[in-house]
Order: sequence, then structure tokens, then C-alpha cells
Amino acid sequence: MDNVLVVGAGMAGLQTVVALREQGYAGRVTLLGAEAHAPYDRPPLSKEVLAGKTDDTSFEADWAALDTEVLFGRTATGLREGVVDTDAGTIEYDRLVIATGSRVLHLPGAAEVPGVHVLRTIDDARALRAALVPGAHVVIVGAGWIGAEVATAAVAAGCPTTVVEALHTPLAGPFPDPIGERFVPWYAEAGVELLLGARVDRLEPGAVHLTDGRRLRADAIVVGIGVRPATDWLAGSAVARTARGFVEVDEHLATSMPGVHAVGDCVEFPSARYGTRMHVEHWDNALQAPRVLVANLLGGEQAYDPVPYFWSDQFGRMVQYVGRHGEGDELVFRDAGEDGKWSAGWFAGDRLVALLAVARPRDLAQGRKLVQLGTPVDRERFADPENPLKST
Ligand code: FAD
Repeated sequence: MDNVLVVGAGMAGLQTVVALREQGYAGRVTLLGAEAHAPYDRPPLSKEVLAGKTDDTSFEADWAALDTEVLFGRTATGLREGVVDTDAGTIEYDRLVIATGSRVLHLPGAAEVPGVHVLRTIDDARALRAALVPGAHVVIVGAGWIGAEVATAAVAAGCPTTVVEALHTPLAGPFPDPIGERFVPWYAEAGVELLLGARVDRLEPGAVHLTDGRRLRADAIVVGIGVRPATDWLAGSAVARTARGFVEVDEHLATSMPGVHAVGDCVEFPSARYGTRMHVEHWDNALQAPRVLVANLLGGEQAYDPVPYFWSDQFGRMVQYVGRHGEGDELVFRDAGEDGKWSAGWFAGDRLVALLAVARPRDLAQGRKLVQLGTPVDRERFADPENPLKST
């Protein structure tokens, strides 16, 4: 093997290139990315860039040391054995790594309406920041991770801000009602209007129409309703994908096509730890998985089976989550009184399987070890925030 092609120049793509060189691969490396930018970090887009704290979130990379041919602003359009088709010709490979991440979902027809924004790229972030001028009415569709972070930035910029959410709590996908209900007051405290159970009928320049007849003034509209894997370019290839478009890999992150691995947001992998197939569209996954992938590419047999972790900054609070909970797990709160800092744990029998920490980073650090170890934890001790988190 002397010619590795990495398609997708985000976090997972860059980390794959870094790991190749760190693990001693001396052959040819090519990194292909659709965006006309060197790889950059996405979490700061909704945090620092929208707040005007920085304009550039590029990763620090020593390209000379990485000895990599970089092809930015060029898009893969198809895959055949040993060849990737792009919008500017073909590229051959011995080994291919798919790291094309996620694309944002849009409301039907919304992309054509002036003043409608999404947030996935640095260009999206710069365009949205320019629209967050004091007094501009901002309507955000979706009270998920992105919706909450954009609302945080919009009110800070002096914009009257409304969040429209079809479900009955924010973040109702990942979290049950008792958790989601605790997020609701954060919006009002920040001065954001939160409309729950509200559905968008249609968007027009300057307004959002809801199905109940309400018309919301909107100088800027932000659609934050989720992502899908950016894998359409693999259609017709031998790479198997799930119904939602995730690349199906085995525990070694190998796809169904010989010589082709995949990593990051776009992947669904089997987890022995959780006894199910999983996709993890979070930063830590894109950081950690490439090292395992590269070890396997170079002849190893490492299984990728992480305990998922992610964080978000919402309305001045650091929200962190580790593990994975299911419907049958018991939810136990760990309240720290009136200071707005709390944690919640999910128990399966006597094991802590997941932890959500709100402005309690120490809980997260201690709880992470317990979740990883799977040792017994006493619920009553857990519920008292004065107790350090440790196994019984
Ligand atoms: P991506 O970052 O999506 O990179 C994939 C790259 O591949 C892109 O540059 C894309 O242009 C390129 N590409 C796609 N198709 C093609 C093609 N056909 N040809 C060539 N190139 C292609 N996670 C957290 O855990 N915490 C956070 O606080 C957090 N905040 C976030 C805030 C924002 C605004 C966003 C957008 C994401 C956030 N995330 C956060 C998620 C995190 O950034 C992603 O999980 C991570 O970026 C995934 O990395 P990736 O390399 O797999 O995919």
C-alpha cells in the first residue's frame, strides 16, 4: 500500500492524515475536501464566530511535516474500484478513507428564500454573523443543539429572538421530558421567546408563518433541524449504506468495499459495549476514531467501541454528556440547590450508564470514569451533590 486517499477534509479527515504520519506510514497521502478552506473546527462556529470573537477556526496543521497533497474546493462525485471521481477529474487510490461528515437538513423550499440561514460551515457562520445586527428579528427553527447555541449568540448581539420547536421540550430527541423541561426556563431567562409545539407552515422573505396562523417577523431565519450523512456521492458504489445514508462499517471501521474504510459523522459502527449499531455525530468521535482506523489500515485489528461524549454551550452554561442511555434506564437527578448547576444520571441496575452535567464539569470528569468502568454506583450517594462521584 503506497497511496492513501482521504475524502473529506474536516476533523476526521485531518486526524486520519495526522495519524497516518504519527503511526509511521511513509507512502503517498492525498486529502480531498469540497470546501475551499483548509480543515477547521466546527464547534467554535456557533460559539466564538457568531459572537464575533474570532473569524478563523482553522486547525493548526504542519502541512510540510504531514507531506500531504491537499485538494481543497474539489468534490468527490463517485467511487469505483481504485478510483474516486471528482468534479475535476479522477483520483486513483490503493486505500480509501471516507470522512465526508454531515450535511444540514433544510426545510422544503427554504434554501431559495432570501434571509434563510443554516449553520454547518465557516461560510455559513460568517454570513449568519453579518445578519445578527442589533434590533434584527431572528427566528430559529428547531430547539436542538444548534438552535440553542444560535439563540445564545443572537440575543447577545441584541436581536429579538424567537425559537420555534415542533416538539414539547427542547432537545426532545436525545433527552426525556424531565430533562427537557429543565431547559425550557433557560430561554426565557436569556430573553428568548420559545414557542413549543409550534410548526412552520412556510417561510417568506422577512417572515415565518406557523401552521396555527401566526406570522413571525424574521429579518433573519435560521433553520437548525438536524443533519444527514454526506454520502450521496457513494450511490451506485460497492459501499453499503443504511437507509438514512450512514456508511456501514465493521468494528475495525472497514466498509463492505475492499480497501475502503470510513470514519466520523458519516459512519454507523457496531458496538459490543452497547450491543447495537451506533452513529455518533459529535466532535470527540471525529477526534478519536481516526487513530483506530489508521492502526487497522496499517495491519492492526483494533475494535472501535467508544463511550460517547459531547458538550454544548447554551445560555452561559456548559452542558456535557457522557455514555448512552436507553428508555428502560432509571433517571436520577443530582441537584445542587438553586445555583442552576445540576447533573442527572441514568442507571441500568446498579451501574451508571450515562451522565448529563450542567455547569458541573467535576461531575462529568468523575462520572465519565464510572460510566467507562461500569462498576456499581449507589443511587442515594449519587443524588447528593456534596458526595464526590465514585463507585460503591
Ligand atoms: P465534517 O466536520 O462534516 O467534515 C466533513 C468534510 O467533508 C466537510 O468539510 C465537507 O465539506 C467534506 N465533504 C462532504 N462531502 C464531500 C465530497 N463529496 N467530496 C469532498 N469533500 C466532501 N460536536 C460536539 O461534540 N460539541 C459541540 O459543541 C459541537 N458544536 C458544533 C457546532 C456546529 C456549528 C457544528 C456544525 C457542529 C458541531 N459539533 C459539535 C459537531 C462536530 O463538529 C462534528 O461531529 C464534526 O465536525 C464531525 O467531523 P467529520 O470530520 O466527521 O465531518
